[in-house]
Amino acid sequence: MDFDLSPEQQAFRDEVRDFIAQNLPSNAADPTAVQAWQRKVREKRWVGFSWPEDCGGGGGGIMEQVILKEEMAKAKAPPLGSCFMGLAWVGPSIAQYGTEAQKQRFIPDILDGKYQWCTGYSEPDSGSDLASLQCKAVLEGDHYVVNGQKIWTSIAMWSKWMILLVRTSNPKSQENKHDGITCLLVEMASEGLEVRPIRNMGGGAVFAEVFFTDVKVPAEQRLGEEGQGWQVTVSALAHERSSIAEVEGLKRNLDLLKEHAAGVERNGRPASEDPGIRRRLAVAETRVEAMRLNGMRFLTKQLKGDPLGSETSVNKLHRAALEVELGEIGVELQGSAGSLTDGIDDAVGGKWQKHSLGWPEVVIGGGTPNIQKNIIAERILGLPKD
Ligand SMILES: Cc1cc2nc3c(=O)[nH]c(=O)nc-3n(C[C@H](O)[C@H](O)[C@H](O)COP(=O)(O)OP(=O)(O)OC[C@H]3O[C@@H](n4cnc5c(N)ncnc54)[C@H](O)[C@@H]3O)c2cc1C
Repeated sequence: MDFDLSPEQQAFRDEVRDFIAQNLPSNAADPTAVQAWQRKVREKRWVGFSWPEDCGGGGGGIMEQVILKEEMAKAKAPPLGSCFMGLAWVGPSIAQYGTEAQKQRFIPDILDGKYQWCTGYSEPDSGSDLASLQCKAVLEGDHYVVNGQKIWTSIAMWSKWMILLVRTSNPKSQENKHDGITCLLVEMASEGLEVRPIRNMGGGAVFAEVFFTDVKVPAEQRLGEEGQGWQVTVSALAHERSSIAEVEGLKRNLDLLKEHAAGVERNGRPASEDPGIRRRLAVAETRVEAMRLNGMRFLTKQLKGDPLGSETSVNKLHRAALEVELGEIGVELQGSAGSLTDGIDDAVGGKWQKHSLGWPEVVIGGGTPNIQKNIIAERILGLPKD
């Protein structure tokens, strides 16, 4: 591994640092300041930085993407762009498989964060085994008619559009179960589409069930060819996946916990001197470092032009365990204040309580730990299939 930056990369890093020093909003809770920041970041073409330039992206290389993410994460800057799913997978899928008209229609709005996209993949009986999905679409003239149900659809109630996976034909056998899946772009205001929010254990409702009853979707809103939906979906995962930004986020939380441990008492001594707490913090720190080094290995592979495969499951597993553990240490250090979200200073705005209740998003979303372990066992260690 050689991570010395070239003179051009150093110049880019300095440019990012200067930009942050001059423009980072001093108050991250001030929406006007954050919007102004987002506009400036967009002008630099750093939103969608890895996307092709002819789609309005920055055309950035892998190393530049890493530099940008790392510097932004270190500075605790707001996220690059405000349309999370649009930027993470809808936009990249449209850039790769979309018609020219679809690119013109959707990509600028995603980069500008004009509205939100949601993701209609999971169904009541199809989560880990997504290819078994049953929501059905039938082509009738110039439109598809969709019937079925989706579930756990994050931010469905606040989204204007959905990227939806439907079944347009039945696969010939279990081995071909990825066949016959098609991707549609659906307007949430469509007639026959109903969103029912689901309450989560943190008390909020950020995901929903979505029901489709004879929903008409114009055929020109199909992304890719009929039956190509699986390919369209997995292709969006092919960009930079070094987990560098996640590592920076975890390090920040670990630093906060260390400060917190030094400021509260356990058995009449600072909690940072308690052997149990010290051991848990040390284990977490070692695990974050393992994640960082794995990230470097992935990055090296990508820089050599090799595609990344199953190895990213290792970091997904580490991150899931770390997010749960850090939340639990935080709540434990807070003592009785750990049960409060606000009202007293020691509740620190409910940070650790929300963190420890928010784990399903990181742990389950994008594939559960069991599934990551299966992937590691079968595809990396070569163990028999389960
Ligand atoms: C916060 C949150 C947000 C989400 N947002 C979205 C979204 O926006 N859009 C969307 O489409 N989906 C979303 N999901 C759904 C998520 O993708 C699924 O929950 C996930 O894929 C697991 O599927 P499932 O819930 O059906 O569980 P199942 O697949 O039924 O799994 C149940 C249990 O069985 C285990 N299991 C399953 N198969 C195996 C196996 N082969 N070997 C060993 N163990 C196995 C799992 O690990 C799990 O513990 C979200 C989920 C969460 C928690």
